[in-house]
Parts: sequence; C-alpha cells; structure tokens
Amino acid sequence: GTDRLAADFYGFQDELTPVEREASLRLRDFMEREVRPIATDYWDRAEFPSQIIPGLADLGMFGAMWPETQRFENSAVWRGWAALELGRVDPSTATFVGVQSGLAMSSIAIGGSPEQRAQWLPPMGRGELIGAFGLTEPLSGSDSSKGLRTTAERHGDTWVLNGAKRWIGNATFADVVVIWARDVAEGQVKGFLVRRGTPGFTTTKIERKQALRIVQNADITLDGVRVDEADRLPNIHSFREVALVLRLTRAEVAWQAVGVQVGAYEAAVRYAGERQQFGRPIASFQLVQDRLASCLGNITASIALCLQVSRMQDQGRQGDEHAALAKGYATTRMRETVAWCRELLGGNGIVLDHGVAKFFADAEAVYSFEGTRDMNNLIVGRAITGVSAFV
Ligand code: FAD
Repeated sequence: GTDRLAADFYGFQDELTPVEREASLRLRDFMEREVRPIATDYWDRAEFPSQIIPGLADLGMFGAMWPETQRFENSAVWRGWAALELGRVDPSTATFVGVQSGLAMSSIAIGGSPEQRAQWLPPMGRGELIGAFGLTEPLSGSDSSKGLRTTAERHGDTWVLNGAKRWIGNATFADVVVIWARDVAEGQVKGFLVRRGTPGFTTTKIERKQALRIVQNADITLDGVRVDEADRLPNIHSFREVALVLRLTRAEVAWQAVGVQVGAYEAAVRYAGERQQFGRPIASFQLVQDRLASCLGNITASIALCLQVSRMQDQGRQGDEHAALAKGYATTRMRETVAWCRELLGGNGIVLDHGVAKFFADAEAVYSFEGTRDMNNLIVGRAITGVSAFV
C-alpha cells in the first residue's frame, strides 16, 4: 500500500494486524508533526521536550504489553514496529519510551505485587508518572550482575539503600526509579521502588553527552535511603528476574536500531537526489547506488531478524540468546548504515541540519546500552558452546 515506508522494501508492515497498522500510522503521523520539527533543537540544547509525553501516552506507547495499560490487543511485532517508528524520527524519543515502558514498567509488571501493579502501571501508562531503571553503576556496566555494589539492608519493615548508579535515563525528573540493590544478608539482587524526593536520594544530570542528547541521564547517589518493605518488588528473587526484563527490552532496542537505520537512509536518499556534482545528481553514480543498496540490505535483514524474534516472544519461546543476537546484530548493521549515510552527505553529513549527523551520533549510544555488542555476542556464545566467557 501507499502507507508503506520506502525503506520497508519487502513490505514487512503487512505483518501487522489492521488495528496495529492503523496505530503505527497514527504514531508515524504524530512523530512527523510533533517530534521531527523540534527534535534537532532539543538535541542541540540537550533538553527533553516533556510536552510530547501525553501524545505518546495516547498512542499507547507506555505499557502496551500489560493488561493494566494496553490500549488495544497487540503483539510483540507491533511493539517492535513502534520502536522502529520512534527511532526513525528521533532515537532519543525511542529511548525515553524504552526506559518508561520497557525498563521501568516491565520491572513493576514482572517484579511487582498485584497492589504495586495497580498503583503504578495505570498512571505510568497515561504518562502522568515517569519511571526510570537504575541498574548500571559507576564501577559496573557490563558486569552489572556480579559487579553490582549498591546495598540493601533490612531493618524491620524498612530497607536502607546505599550506593551509586550511573547513566540512569529519565532519572533527573522521574517520579519513581527502580533501584537494583544487593541484599547484604542474602547476597541476592532485589528491586526497590524509590520515589523522587526520598531523603538521601540525589540525581545529577550527566552533561556534555555527544549522543542521545535529549535523553536525561543521571548519576544517582543513595545515601542511607529508606524504603518501605511495601515498595520492594516481591517477585524479584535474584538477577535472573532482571534478565527477564532485559530480554524484552533488548528485542525492542534491536527494532529501535532498525528505525535509526531507516531515518538515516531516508535522509541520504533524499540528499543524493538533490545534491549535484559533475553536473548530475550524486544519486546517478554507481558507487552511490551501491551504498544505498547496501543500506537497504542492512535494513531489510535487520527487520527480518527482529520480526522473527518478536514472533518468538509472542509464541513464548524467545530466550535471552535470541534477544541478544537481534540486539547485537541490528546495532552492528546500524553502525555500518549510519556511517555510509553520513559519508553520502559529504561535509553536510556532520552538520545537524542535514538530517544524518544526529542519527550518526545517537547510534553510538544505542550500540553500547542494554548490553554492548560484545556482551550480547557472549550471551549468544554461551548458548552456542555451553560455556560462559564472562561469569
Ligand atoms: P563497560 O562495561 O566498562 O565496557 C567497556 C568495554 O569493554 C565495552 O566495549 C565492553 O563490550 C567491553 N567489555 C566489558 N566486559 C567484557 C567482556 N567480558 N568481554 C569482552 N568485552 C568486554 N543503565 C541503566 O541501568 N539504566 C539506564 O537507563 C541506562 N541508560 C543508558 C543510556 C545511555 C545513553 C548510555 C550510554 C548508557 C545507559 N545505561 C543505562 C548504561 C549501559 O547499559 C552501559 O553503558 C552498558 O551496559 C555498558 O557498560 P559500561 O558503559 O560500563 O561499559
């Protein structure tokens, strides 16, 4: 149909149900009208456009997976496709949604009691409350399981948290941050809902970032932060349940990486048609067409992979290694694609106004967060060989 993206060369969009397809077109329209015109300036100023939150909520972007918050019946394929549509216009907006919907809400949905789900998920689904996910620490990134140092000590019905977190997206303004901490008595990782304003809990924005500048990432310090037992996630018994959350979000980051490729590719195709050298549009040169065809190959292969990993999620047979392969592969293709697109714009490829420089920069963060390529490939390597190279 005419509503297909040109970059959707094989018509993968037809995999969506009519309702999902309609929803993805509404999302595309919202992103074009409300986000594309402002994204570059917000990125340049490293500010977050909070006015887009209600619109994203109305489009069902927050918690589409969970019965408390889903606006219509939907599949993992649609949720992935939505990440593509978000990433295609602004990777920071996709990341904001990934933190709120994927990391924070999924932690509460998977780890929370029925009361916690009822308390937090509906207002988060409406975008009235914003969440964050605090796993990474200054001294542990890839080694976030064994290396996690933040401690939780129980005193009656209160837990006392001490430690530090780094890189936590949305945390500067989040109403609630899921803090992962090690129970000193048991040695296992537990999850805690820490509300904004709790004494001893401070966030400091990470300045001078050169990727995903719209996303507000924070350093957090936890200095004797007291949390009620009622705000501990009771279904989290160890890092194993944290991995269940990451399995879902990694697959969506793979889709986000497809969106980044599509956004950069569209800008490069447009530019190649307009830019004249040697008296002809550069699009007429064989080497330029080769680059564009290679980008389209990367996009098409990435979508096919993501589509299957989402179908596996819908069928309940997606493992950590399947999500890891998709994330590692799609982000590697993304890095190649955005570099080729950058190159096709010549000098203008490094200027924000020409539509590729932002994708080029943002891709670097998408490549490294939610597990670097190395760590995701090591998860696959463990599945291949039966031997873990990192524990
Ligand atoms: P390191 O772990 O120090 O890795 C450095 C390099 O060493 C990498 O290339 C890595 O692949 C390699 N390496 C490490 N160990 C091995 C090994 N065993 N074998 C081979 N190579 C290895 N975290 C959160 O908890 N919440 C968030 O909301 C969040 N948002 C983020 C947003 C952005 C923009 C960024 C950049 C990060 C965010 N993170 C967040 C943190 C992110 O998940 C980590 O940056 C990521 O896991 C990598 O950790 P690290 O940066 O400490 O790198």
